[in-house]
Amino acid sequence: MVVPYTHEPFTDFTVEENKKEMLEALKKVEADLGKEYPLIIGGERITTEDKIVSLNPANKDEVVGYVSKANKELAEQAMKVADETFQWWRKSDPKFRADILFRAAAIVRRRKHEFTAHLVKEGGKPWKEADADTAEAIDFLEYYGRQMLEFKDGVKINSRPIEYNQYNYIPLGVGVVISPWNFLFAIMAGTTTAAMVSGNTVLLKPASSTPVIAYKLMEVLEEAGLPAGVINYIPGPGSEVGDYLVDHPRTRFVSFTGSRDVGTRIFERAAKVQKGQKWLKRTIIEMGGKDTIVVDNEADLELAAQSIVQSAFGFSGQKCSACSRAVIHEDVYDQVKDRVAQLTKELSAGDPHDNSYFMGPVIDQGAYDKIMSYIEIGKKEAELIAGGTGDDSKGWFINPTVFADADPESRIMQEEIFGPVVGLTKAKDFDHAIEIANNTDYGLTGAVITNNRTHQEKARTDFHVGNLYFNRGCTAAIVGYQPFGGFNMSGTDSKAGGPDYLIHHMQGKTTSEMF
Ligand code: GLU
Repeated sequence: MVVPYTHEPFTDFTVEENKKEMLEALKKVEADLGKEYPLIIGGERITTEDKIVSLNPANKDEVVGYVSKANKELAEQAMKVADETFQWWRKSDPKFRADILFRAAAIVRRRKHEFTAHLVKEGGKPWKEADADTAEAIDFLEYYGRQMLEFKDGVKINSRPIEYNQYNYIPLGVGVVISPWNFLFAIMAGTTTAAMVSGNTVLLKPASSTPVIAYKLMEVLEEAGLPAGVINYIPGPGSEVGDYLVDHPRTRFVSFTGSRDVGTRIFERAAKVQKGQKWLKRTIIEMGGKDTIVVDNEADLELAAQSIVQSAFGFSGQKCSACSRAVIHEDVYDQVKDRVAQLTKELSAGDPHDNSYFMGPVIDQGAYDKIMSYIEIGKKEAELIAGGTGDDSKGWFINPTVFADADPESRIMQEEIFGPVVGLTKAKDFDHAIEIANNTDYGLTGAVITNNRTHQEKARTDFHVGNLYFNRGCTAAIVGYQPFGGFNMSGTDSKAGGPDYLIHHMQGKTTSEMF
């Protein structure tokens, strides 16, 4: 019997022992910096001339790894292997597949701080955020393994007398998994293993800024017993490898997490039926957010300010769940605004290596430039009350930034910035606040800070987001506890870490026999 699922606990780094272990793990990871990593196709290691250089965003001079770069030919080779492997893998025992995930979870758990230390370097994550990323990766493995066991014998349907009806889920085929850099371990591992445990074969194209952690997952899965060819590791440029595989007639589904621009592009390209293609491709797409915390006048205002600050600046706001707008009842607006500014000024950004800063860097030069240009836009549109500065001399650091009195229709209140920037705006009453909260193209997360039950119930029905939280921040969904995914331009609402997530990777087959 598999023990019931519970989520992986977070590490308390104020405990001396944990801190010591983490510092040792960082040393170990530092000794591995600058190594080379090959592609993995059909279990075979393939080294290419051309390399992706993965950098430490806190220190641009530090190379995390040189990773072989796939091209169209190698993508085609990987597709052939995945297509062939699917012919037997689709019939593999779901228990066998789930056990690989359970074993992989045990391997990661045993070397937990080593993975966390790697995420500090490759993702620029502060210890706490990196630890949560590792814990979530373990959670996905444990949760999806158990979910597969739930589905292995199909689901209950009815039969008339002298009839035996069955309803089973079977895999789809070759899946292309394109994973993001922000939850470089958790989302990459979750999307890849969900596809695999459902009986599909996978072409894994991790984000080009964080490809090394995906290689490390491949090693873990191989150690856990993953047969060759089931998951193929092919980092490479989206414009070449990504497009080629999304368009490929043998691609059965695409699982993508990333920006709205790329997600929309994938959705459109996958919709085109190619010559020789025998199916309509499925897409599982998780894009951005413009997530709002609503503060009512009957509310714990300290909780409100803390929730806004934590949700806006955790991992430098580089979460699609991050709070980028706060809509505050006019009666309490000034109080909350002042407290948010005060709390923000206490925070700063710096190298996450020594764990003394709340925030680390943003991921790369492109992100830095984009966020800084939004800060300039914000200065014209609203009042800058904290932060507003950055420094990209050593790494890509941006101080936590707050704009007050922002027009809800302004660019900084409508467009996803994906950085440590939050805008505050005033609402005349609770209904008005919900109206403003809903006025974006997105619908991912939201939170309401209120002690008024009637208002809470109104938000429950009218605040149109996939993940709605009361009296807490709007980030940090836990696998199996708060299934995660959003409405509208946030994606296909395929709830990651939820009870129906695996079903998106499968198709239902009805069999009916007369006796
Ligand atoms: N699941 C994460 C959270 O709840 C966010 C995932 C993402 O940014 O893609 O904070």
